[in-house]
Amino acid sequence: FYCPVCGWIDTKTCQQHGETKTYAKQKIPIKPLIERSKKILDMKVLPELIKGVRGTSSKDHTPEHIIKGLLRAKYKIHITKDGTTRYDMTQLPLTHFKPKEIGTTIERLRELGYTKDYLGNELQDESQICELLPQDIILPDSPESPDEGTAKILTRTTKFVDELLEKLYKLKPYYKVKKQEDLTGQLVICLAPHTSAGIIGRIIGFTKTQGFFASPLMHAATRRDCDGDEASILLLMDAFLNFSKKYLPSSRGATMDAPLVLTSLLTPCEVDDMAFNMDIVDKYPLELYEAAQEYKMPWEVNITKVSETLHTEKQYEGFKFTHDTDDFNKSVRCSAYKTLPSMGEKLDGQMQIARKVRAVNTSDVARLVIEKHFLKDTKGNLRKFSMQVFRCVNCNEKYRRPPLKGRCLKCGGKIIFTIAEGSVVKYFEATQKLAEEYNVSNYLKQTIMLLQRRLEDVFGKEKEKQTGLNTWC
Ligand SMILES: [Zn+2]
Ligand SMILES: [Zn+2]
Repeated sequence: FYCPVCGWIDTKTCQQHGETKTYAKQKIPIKPLIERSKKILDMKVLPELIKGVRGTSSKDHTPEHIIKGLLRAKYKIHITKDGTTRYDMTQLPLTHFKPKEIGTTIERLRELGYTKDYLGNELQDESQICELLPQDIILPDSPESPDEGTAKILTRTTKFVDELLEKLYKLKPYYKVKKQEDLTGQLVICLAPHTSAGIIGRIIGFTKTQGFFASPLMHAATRRDCDGDEASILLLMDAFLNFSKKYLPSSRGATMDAPLVLTSLLTPCEVDDMAFNMDIVDKYPLELYEAAQEYKMPWEVNITKVSETLHTEKQYEGFKFTHDTDDFNKSVRCSAYKTLPSMGEKLDGQMQIARKVRAVNTSDVARLVIEKHFLKDTKGNLRKFSMQVFRCVNCNEKYRRPPLKGRCLKCGGKIIFTIAEGSVVKYFEATQKLAEEYNVSNYLKQTIMLLQRRLEDVFGKEKEKQTGLNTWC
C-alpha cells in the first residue's frame, strides 16, 4: 500500500494520512527486466516490434508480466484490454453440415462424436449430412479474404499459450498443435459485443467463407438483445491464463466485452426467444400454401417450431431442413465491400447493383446512403472539429484552447489541430455528386446546401479548383 506522504506501508489505511493507494509512480529499470525475461524464454534476439500501452487505466494499475508481451510479439498476436487474444467474425446460423465442407476427416469427426449422419446412418462418406451439435462451431478460414484466417491465428495463439505455460508457469504445454486438424475439439469462449457473458463452444472445423457457423441456439445464447451479428472467440486456456479483471479500465462500461460470466452448457429455454420461432419441418405442407392464399395469419397454420420442443430431448436435435446445398463454401466468399479499397468505389458498386435490380428505387438508395451515412458522418465530424483539443507537435501537450501566444506554453513548439479538415469533408463531394446524379428530393438537396454553408463557415469557401482536362472527356 502506498501513502502519498509516508511512502510504502503495510496497512491498508495510514494512521496519519488515511486512505492509501495500491500503486505509485516509480521508475522501472526496463533493461535488466528484459534481459532476465530473455534468459527465462531462452530468446536470443528480441522480436522486431514489441507493442505496449502508454499507461494503464485500471483501478489498481496492475501491469501484465513482461514475458507475456515478449511472447505475443514473437507469435505476432494481438491483445485486447482484458489480456486475451480474440478473433471477430460475422455470425451465421447453421443446422447441418457435410464433412467435406469443413475440412475435417471422417475419422476425426467420429472421435468428436459424429458417428452417424442426420438420418442415423453410419458416417463413412464426406458427402453425408450431419446435424450440427448445439455447441459445436465452424470457424472462417477464407483464402480470398484479405484478413488472416482463424486457423493460422489460433495456431499461433496455441503456440503462445504453450510456451507461456512451459517457460513462465513451468507447466506442461497444453495444446501441442502441429496441424490445422489439431485445433478441432478445442474449446473456445464465444462472446458477442457489448455483453459480458460468454458461452463455451467446441471447434469442429473450418469454412472457406468468412462466417462463424454455429447453431441458431448458440448464436442466440451469445447475446441479450439481437442488436448485431458479430461475435468473437478466444481460446479457453488463453482466457484462464491471461484474462484478468484487474486490467480492465476503471471507467464505466469497461466490463462490457469482457468475459466475466461463462456459460458452459447451452440451455435452449434460457436463450433469446427469437430462435424459438424457427420451423422444424423437412417440407412445408400444402395447407400452408392454401392458407397463404387466403391471407391467414401465421399462427393459424400448425407448423412445429423450436419453442414446442423446449424442455424435451428434442430441443437439441432433429431440426430438419427443406432444401439441401452441395457445398456451402461455393458462394461469394469475400464481399466486394472488403476488397474495394476506397469509399467511392464501394458506393459505385452499390449504385451499380441498385440500377440493375428492377425492384430497387435508385433515388431512394441514394437518399438512404446520404441520410444515414454521409450526412450523419459529416455533421458528427464537423461537431467534433469545433470541439477538438489542440496539441503541441514537439511535446504532445494537449490544450483545450490554443494558447494566445500561438506556441506551446511548455516548450514553445508549434500548436496543431487534432482533427483534420479532410476527415470532416471527406464524404461531402460524394454526397453532392450522389444527390445530383440520382435526383433526390428538394428537401434533401437543401439540407445538403445548408450543410455546405456550415462547412464554408468553418473552413472558408473553396477556391476555384484546378481540374485535369480528362474530367471533361
Ligand atoms: Zn501516511
Ligand atoms: Zn510543447
